[in-house]
Amino acid sequence: MSYDPRTATGIPTEPVGSLPRSTRLQDAYARFDAGEIDEAALTAEQDAAVKDSIERAEATGSPIVSDGEQRWSSFATYPIATTLAGTGLAPMLAPGGQYFAIFADGHGRQLPKLVRGPFRYNQYAADTLRRSIGFATKPMKQAVIAPSMLALLYPLSDPVDGYPREEFEAALVDECERDIRQAFAAGAVRVSVDFTEGRLATRADPRNPWTGAGLLPHFIELINRVMARFTPEERVNIGVHTCPGGDRDSVHSADVPYNNLLGTMFDIDAGYFLIQLKSEREKDPVYETIGRNLRDDASGVAQMAYLGVINPQNPRVEQPQEIADQLIRAANFIPKERIGATDDCGFSPFSIDEKPNHGSPDFARDVAFQKIANRVEGARAAAEKLDI
Ligand SMILES: [Zn+2]
Repeated sequence: MSYDPRTATGIPTEPVGSLPRSTRLQDAYARFDAGEIDEAALTAEQDAAVKDSIERAEATGSPIVSDGEQRWSSFATYPIATTLAGTGLAPMLAPGGQYFAIFADGHGRQLPKLVRGPFRYNQYAADTLRRSIGFATKPMKQAVIAPSMLALLYPLSDPVDGYPREEFEAALVDECERDIRQAFAAGAVRVSVDFTEGRLATRADPRNPWTGAGLLPHFIELINRVMARFTPEERVNIGVHTCPGGDRDSVHSADVPYNNLLGTMFDIDAGYFLIQLKSEREKDPVYETIGRNLRDDASGVAQMAYLGVINPQNPRVEQPQEIADQLIRAANFIPKERIGATDDCGFSPFSIDEKPNHGSPDFARDVAFQKIANRVEGARAAAEKLDI
């Protein structure tokens, strides 16, 4: 199935991926971890949550929808664990690895650690997409995790016995390629790679040693090794998402200078980027950097910049006019035909998330769909004004 993102509206628009999990679904995950319900019962709850997510996303008028990642432990751990508590952890992993991030509110999210090779995914994004796509009448996108995130499974300083880092990372690149290919084969029209660790990689937080290890160039190289496996025609529909994190309505790297990342991020040979911007205080310098670095020819693809016009951490619903104004302003710096609209991040990348600024995940779901509807409307208004 081929897809032209420009046919639905003059300014193409798509979500990042996740939606808040209802209280009911979060309870089901907890009961599954406690052994109170079996996998079939959890799957039935996930089916109901996906059906509701897709129906409500389609009702917003969004030309492209996701399943809200309702079947995933998190955006980063879906290939390696069934739940965030660690049920179904892949056999080469053990609990207690590095912190992927320590957030502004003080909470952290810890990864498991690799204890032996070879590394393989337990589950691919396509495995859950296949169960979700039947609920959709509109095209679906699929998010996948970047190899750079899962590279953090390998201990920073202690080599894994008999499994050198290079061999592990070669396996990661193979698995990420397989994840993307299988998602397209299962019917996704767009696949975006979550790269939240990009901006964080320049933080140099003494509490979290990997962030001071100068890994950004290596992260970009890893993602480009995946991109090199795809043709330019395929890469038109392969994106990369950057953000300062989003969990429990908190962020991990909003105070890190954006240019630390944006100066080199467009070296990635992706066809499009989903770029957090709504929550950025000074937007013009970011538009300017994007306009300067977005590539006309990224190994055969003209890159598109999807700008974040919705802040999922804040319950205030952005209005269509302010969204349109933001996109129109950006067109002073970025060619208008290369602009898209998206959300700053997924609405709830982790399956356990009470959305404290919102008061409850159920209310946060209602807010999310209002925000998505306004993004669609705002993009339409901006396209009309810009004559795209
Ligand atoms: Zn994000």
